[in-house]
Amino acid sequence: MLTEQTLRELAALESPDVPILSLYLDVDPRRLTKDHYRLNLRHLLERVKEEIAREDLEAAQRFVEREYDGSGRGLALFSAQARGIWRAFVLAVPTPNLAFAGRKPSVFPLARLWDAYGRFLVALVDKTHVRLLFYQMGVLQESLELHGEPIKRHKQGGWGAEKLQRHEDEVAYRNLKEAAELTAAFCARHQPRYLLLGGADPTVVEFREQLPRPWRERIAGTVPGDRMSEEGEIREAALRVLQQVEREREFALVDATITAAAKGANGVMNLDDTLGAAAEGRVHVLLVADGFHAPAYRCTGCGFLTAIRRETCPFCGAAFETLPDAVDWLIATVLENGGQVEIVEGHPRLQEVGVAALLRY
Ligand SMILES: [Zn+2]
Repeated sequence: MLTEQTLRELAALESPDVPILSLYLDVDPRRLTKDHYRLNLRHLLERVKEEIAREDLEAAQRFVEREYDGSGRGLALFSAQARGIWRAFVLAVPTPNLAFAGRKPSVFPLARLWDAYGRFLVALVDKTHVRLLFYQMGVLQESLELHGEPIKRHKQGGWGAEKLQRHEDEVAYRNLKEAAELTAAFCARHQPRYLLLGGADPTVVEFREQLPRPWRERIAGTVPGDRMSEEGEIREAALRVLQQVEREREFALVDATITAAAKGANGVMNLDDTLGAAAEGRVHVLLVADGFHAPAYRCTGCGFLTAIRRETCPFCGAAFETLPDAVDWLIATVLENGGQVEIVEGHPRLQEVGVAALLRY
C-alpha cells in the first residue's frame, strides 16, 4: 500500500555509486494486453540500459513477467540491487510509462499521482440514506452507510395532501442535514483532497448546500449511480472524473505557458529554449508531452546546450557531445533546481513542440 509515508521514504533513498532504476509502467487491462505492456517495458528498459546495471533491468523484467499478478492499472518499481534497494508498487490508478536512472529515485510521477488520486471520497445520497466511500490511491479504505428516518408515502389527495407533503419534505431535510453532518465528520477523519457526489439531482444539490464550506469546495464532480451501485463501478466512475480534473489542470498549465511564451513573458515553447532556461535554473514548471524524447548537444568547452546539431560551438568553437535523451536531462535538472515536472498526455500544441516551460522570471 502506498502512503505519504512511503513517498517520503522513497524520496529519502540515495545511491551515490550505483544508479537507481525508477520505472513506471501502464498495465491498464482495459486498454493493454500482457504482450503490449511487456513490449512497452522492453522499450523503457532499452532507454536506460547504458546507465542501469543488468541485475536491475533483470529484476524489473522478472517482476513484471513472473511475479506481478495482473491486478491494478500501473506499476512503479525502484531498483538498485547492489545497494539492496528494491521497491515494487501495484497502483490502482492510471500510470504513465517512464524510466529513469539516477542517484535518487524519480518519485515525482508518484507524487503527482498521489495529488490526483491519493485521497478521495464518494458520497451517494438519496432522501433517506447516505453511503460514504473513502479511497486511498484508488483503493477502498473505509465505507459507511447512514439510514435516516423513513419517508412514508401518502397516496391520498385533497385537503390533507399539502400538509403531508410538507411533513415529507421536513423529514427529507432532516435526513440530508444529518447525512451532511456525518459526511463532514467522515471528511474530518480522512481529510480527502477531493469529494465526488452521486444520486438524484435535486437531492444532491441540497446535500451539497448542507456540506460545510471547506468540504463543499473540494467537490470535484458527480458520479453516475446511487447508493445501491456496485463498489467497482463507483470507483471506476470516480477515477474517470478525477482523471478529467487532472487533465484540465495540466491543460490549463500548458495554455498559460503558451500565452506567456506568445507575449514574450515567462514561458518557452520548444526544446531549444527550454534547455537554455533549464540550464540557467529558471524553470518553474517543466511540461513534457507524454512519450516525447529527443537528443541534445552540449558544448565540451563552455557547456552551451542546444537541440540543434552543429559542428562547433558558436560561442567558444569547441566540439559538441551528444546527450541521447534531452528530456531526462531536463527533468533531472529542473527537479534539482526545485522546479516541478508535469508529463502531459494529449495536448495538441504541446505534442507538436515536445516540451515547454513556465519560467520563474
Ligand atoms: Zn562552447
